[in-house]
Amino acid sequence: MPNTGSKTDIETFAAPTRRTLLTWLGAGAALPVLAACGSGDAQARSFPVSYSETEWRKRLTPAQFAILRKHGTERPYTSALLTEKRAGAYLCAADGNPLFSSRTKYDSKTGWPSFWKPLKGAIGTSTDYKIGYPRTEVHCARCGGHLGHVFNDGPKPTGKRYCMNGDAMTFRPT
Ligand SMILES: [Zn+2]
Repeated sequence: MPNTGSKTDIETFAAPTRRTLLTWLGAGAALPVLAACGSGDAQARSFPVSYSETEWRKRLTPAQFAILRKHGTERPYTSALLTEKRAGAYLCAADGNPLFSSRTKYDSKTGWPSFWKPLKGAIGTSTDYKIGYPRTEVHCARCGGHLGHVFNDGPKPTGKRYCMNGDAMTFRPT
């Protein structure tokens, strides 16, 4: 009887170990796929400004957290920044990183604050397949927070439309 008990112990111990190993292998194999898909990519990389999910929840409003940390999208025509006409800078709501100048803001008629050019080095991009086809996701270069997307139907001189979530930004007048 004591032998039976110990055999069972070994088996129950060994089984989760094998599963754990398979999980690790599975995770390793999935990594290139994740990097290619890009949606989680930006936040998997390390950025100069970095906090745990719990800490981000404390630092951001629920709306900011949903967009910046969870790739959410605000409802169109809801952001006060949409109609902001003053001269100034649009900053990342998470860390104050200046993202866009008011000089590159324009009305894209989409209901989201839109710009034709970001400030130098302010943003990074990755490809996201969240709605089934590839889109270029835009995030803050300092904290990796999701800001919106960039499309190729913008005005001159760049032809780009940086379609931003107003809730992911704050405005600082000059
Ligand atoms: Zn940021």
